[in-house]
Amino acid sequence: MEKQEYERFRDSIGTVTSEGKRSWVYPKKPEGILYKYRKWVSYILLIILVVSPFIKINGNQFLMFNVLERRFNLFGNIFWPQDFYLFVLMMLIGVVFIVLFTVAFGRIFCGWICPQTIFMEMVFRRIEYWIEGDRGKQIRLDKQEWNAEKIRKKGLKWFIFFIISFLIANVFLAYLIGSDRLLLYINDGPLAHISTLISLLIFTGVFYFVFAWFREQVCIIACPYGRLQGVLLDNKSIVVAYDHKRGEKEKGRAKFKKKEDREASGKGDCIDCFQCVQVCPTGIDIRNGTQLECVNCTACIDACNKMMDAVDLPRGLIRYASEENIEKKKKFRFTPRIKGYAAVLFILVSVLSGMLFLRSKVEANILRLPGQLYEHKENNIISNVYTYKLINKTSKDFEEVQFKLLSHNGDINTVKGHSILVPSSGLAEGTLFIEINRAALEEEKDKLKIAIYSGDRLIETTGTTFLGPRSYK
Ligand code: SF4
Ligand code: SF4
Repeated sequence: MEKQEYERFRDSIGTVTSEGKRSWVYPKKPEGILYKYRKWVSYILLIILVVSPFIKINGNQFLMFNVLERRFNLFGNIFWPQDFYLFVLMMLIGVVFIVLFTVAFGRIFCGWICPQTIFMEMVFRRIEYWIEGDRGKQIRLDKQEWNAEKIRKKGLKWFIFFIISFLIANVFLAYLIGSDRLLLYINDGPLAHISTLISLLIFTGVFYFVFAWFREQVCIIACPYGRLQGVLLDNKSIVVAYDHKRGEKEKGRAKFKKKEDREASGKGDCIDCFQCVQVCPTGIDIRNGTQLECVNCTACIDACNKMMDAVDLPRGLIRYASEENIEKKKKFRFTPRIKGYAAVLFILVSVLSGMLFLRSKVEANILRLPGQLYEHKENNIISNVYTYKLINKTSKDFEEVQFKLLSHNGDINTVKGHSILVPSSGLAEGTLFIEINRAALEEEKDKLKIAIYSGDRLIETTGTTFLGPRSYK
């Protein structure tokens, strides 16, 4: 069936021309109350993002994602590879939270909180406005021949973009390898750590590419979250929406004429000024309805409100509303879908809280040496040899660590013979012998319970098995 003209926008994305080429977006500089709030939110988030790897709690980096060594710090707590299940659970909670949030309030996370949008719209774009001017001036500059003015403006912009990309790459590296190591490398000089320097330059190049050229394409093409929008949203989700009933009325949108009686003429409240389109950083016309490109940045709400004020019509032609609210004037309510996601989130958070509460400070593993049986010693003593590994998940050293047998009468002797130190955020490993009188053994393979003390303080209990001879009593 032949498609209606007004439905054609669904066949393509706003940033691609009919020849399949990139259509560069020159968004008009936003202004208005929501943009002001967005600026404050982004200042706070930018500060958090930049300083988080440099803050320490109990000597631990506040946030760190060292994927190379599989060490993660969340809010000053160290998570080891052994805690990976906790990390996965946290990620799962994050995903369910975002899904729940999206079902209820659309993609507002993208426009207000996502680091990509914050850096793009609140850092790089504002530098661009500062150097090249607003939308009209940018279009003119791009069209004009290369002359001194264009070289100066473009050169300055690209240079500043590169410097900021380099700084972001440094912060990114601080999350990845830890801020202490980054500062140490900086102190040693770049040539002392060539591989890190190469990684840093690669990250810089990637950030430069994203913010200088790829831009809104990240949200439209690359980000999987944006793609999920179609599945997550329904007509009850609150999103940035154009009130088509009010905007179009019986006769549709039309330019505003001075002193006209808009109400009596049957024309919609949309005065077809295109301000909402010009301000959009993803190059779409929100009047076509909810689209995958929309990051819910709310810039079009501000732009339209300004126009409504100018022509003395009520604000809110584009507003934060659900389709149901626009069609049937229904207020927001908690749908079964929202309640379902909220229940799943509640269960996951409860499970995580329980796991965090029960999480031990020390991870202890005592394993029998592979291929070794048992040894008979004097006075009817049976001896087994083990390897032990103690991981300290805290930021304090555990000194004078000793093992005590709880389940049987017997001795535990480490090979080194002296008490063990398990350093903060580190591990201690070695070999130990467990000796038990043959008469105390119940079976061929007894289960042992072992306590681990630091001085007088019990820090962990663990178990292992003990082999003995078949006839034992
Ligand atoms: S349509 Fe409006 S809310 Fe959506 S991206 Fe464009 S300006 Fe932002
Ligand atoms: S800014 Fe408002 S009035 Fe102007 S075109 Fe967009 S929806 Fe219509």
